[in-house]
Amino acid sequence: MPFHVMLIPTLGCPSKCSYCWSSDPDSPKMSVDTIKEVVAWLKEFRPGEAVTFTFHGGEPLLAGADFYKKSLALLSKGLKDRKIAFAMQTNLWLMTPEIAKVLAKYNIPIGSSLDGPKKLNDKQRSEGYYDRTMRGYQIAKENGLDVKFICTFTSYSVKKKEEIFDYFLKNDLTLKLHPALPSLRSNKPGEWALDPEEYGELLVYLLDKYLENMDKIDVMNIDHLCKCIFTGHGTVCTYVDCMGDTFAIGPDGSIYPCYRYVGMPNYVMGNVYDHPTMDDLMGSKAGILMLRYKKYVDKHCKDCAHISYCRGGCPYNAMAPYDGKIKGVDPHCVAYKRIFDEIIGRMNTDMFGGSGGLESATFGFPPERSSKQGIMAIMLKEI
Ligand code: SF4
Ligand code: SF4
Repeated sequence: MPFHVMLIPTLGCPSKCSYCWSSDPDSPKMSVDTIKEVVAWLKEFRPGEAVTFTFHGGEPLLAGADFYKKSLALLSKGLKDRKIAFAMQTNLWLMTPEIAKVLAKYNIPIGSSLDGPKKLNDKQRSEGYYDRTMRGYQIAKENGLDVKFICTFTSYSVKKKEEIFDYFLKNDLTLKLHPALPSLRSNKPGEWALDPEEYGELLVYLLDKYLENMDKIDVMNIDHLCKCIFTGHGTVCTYVDCMGDTFAIGPDGSIYPCYRYVGMPNYVMGNVYDHPTMDDLMGSKAGILMLRYKKYVDKHCKDCAHISYCRGGCPYNAMAPYDGKIKGVDPHCVAYKRIFDEIIGRMNTDMFGGSGGLESATFGFPPERSSKQGIMAIMLKEI
């Protein structure tokens, strides 16, 4: 997996989404000095290797225009001997023409969040969210930024999947779905979480809708799931061993295995001010835990037909229901198996006409339902 560093300038966020598990109103903000230390650390850490930086939160735009002007210049100049790319995940509320111009200068693609039409979105995310995000979206577009939306499906909104899909289709928006997760921080961790079986059915529904509307919309999850099967390995972090290739840096320079753990002292692997080596990070308590998860997957999933491109799913998802202990793989396993089996079944039907001959020898089971045209087109699509 490519080397990925998530920068979390703050865990603060002006929104109050019902199912949020990652914001902290008392969070400090990252200083430009910490970015200088990130640069100094990365001059020695995995030198020469390409690295993608994603600004995430909390809400990263709370850091302000000046932070981005200085930080992006420092990172780009300080690490110019390696290939670097940037991305940002933001709710766009605080987007201004000034920040948009800075981000556009560095070609930063934006991921934002929208759960569907205004009424549904605001019920899940908070009153007034939709209009604020749309205002920021407008500014981002006017300044040439590429914005894609992530749509979080919860136990509530999954019942309205048709309405949500139609919204994305009619508004010409790329759809990337995110299942609402249980939280390691909440005392009601599963309140909004999407049930794994429902998640599996939702993915199959989106596959159907995608095949009907391929010329009109992109459904990124389906693209990636098909690509996983086609190439035999994961193409997003959920379906690879992320440990050791993904790190997140919190506001004070603490290093964690991923943004999902930022702010939880038990998961600190080191700090950029100490310039830790790979051995330091992976030898920390959190590093050892992540490596234990990898070994657990090797054992637990060894007989699964999908292990090479699933890798037990996301370690955070696996540990969140058990207070950070390893007691199972990602609970979305049910959903992953459902959609992987479905895609393979349809691919076999596309390729071999559902004869049950070659496909059984190749993938071990017959297709479950008749195929529509086009699944090979998704497999072969460039993403
Ligand atoms: S912990 Fe989960 S979300 Fe984080 S990098 Fe790993 S797979 Fe991705
Ligand atoms: S589908 Fe389930 S059993 Fe198979 S590799 Fe993924 S998590 Fe493991």
